[in-house]
Amino acid sequence: MRIGIYPGSFDPVTIGHLDIIKRSALLVDRLIIGVLNNSKKSPVFTAEERKGMIESVVKNIPNVQVEVFDGLLVDFAKLKQAEVVFRGLRAVTDFEYELQLAQLNRSLYPKLDTMFLAASVEYSYLSSSAVREIASYQGDISMMVPKELVSVVEDKFRSLKMDKK
Ligand code: ADP
Repeated sequence: MRIGIYPGSFDPVTIGHLDIIKRSALLVDRLIIGVLNNSKKSPVFTAEERKGMIESVVKNIPNVQVEVFDGLLVDFAKLKQAEVVFRGLRAVTDFEYELQLAQLNRSLYPKLDTMFLAASVEYSYLSSSAVREIASYQGDISMMVPKELVSVVEDKFRSLKMDKK
């Protein structure tokens, strides 16, 4: 059984991420989406919220499960007996960071390999940070996040704005 991990912050998950999820799921028997709970970043959505949002959009893909993890990716991969990590590449700007990360992870745990999937052209400009920026100004994010999540994201930013007042 080949197990893969697709790790990320997913703050929030976008249709670009969803595209990588669907394509990765075809390449392994089981795909674990690893939602990083990183204390050094301050995400807008809690790890459990991010997990729940992803779960609601992958529920029809039978070999995908979503888990929160913290600490090193290689330790999570060992725990899950995963052999492969998937990452999406949008542009050369992603490349340098991603290459370094893949080489670092392989030096820590040689049994783990990283596979890069080229972002679909139509999603290559999409990022969670762009979604957060646009949503914070009540802009239109309906082409950026899965349709089930549009109002969830909008409501979150509305409530953050109210808290600031
Ligand atoms: P991280 O904080 O680890 O960069 P992200 O949630 O931003 O996590 O992204 C997780 C992974 O998904 C990364 O490999 C990133 O390059 C990839 N990714 C992000 N947006 C897209 C997109 N629009 N198309 C394809 N891959 C993407």
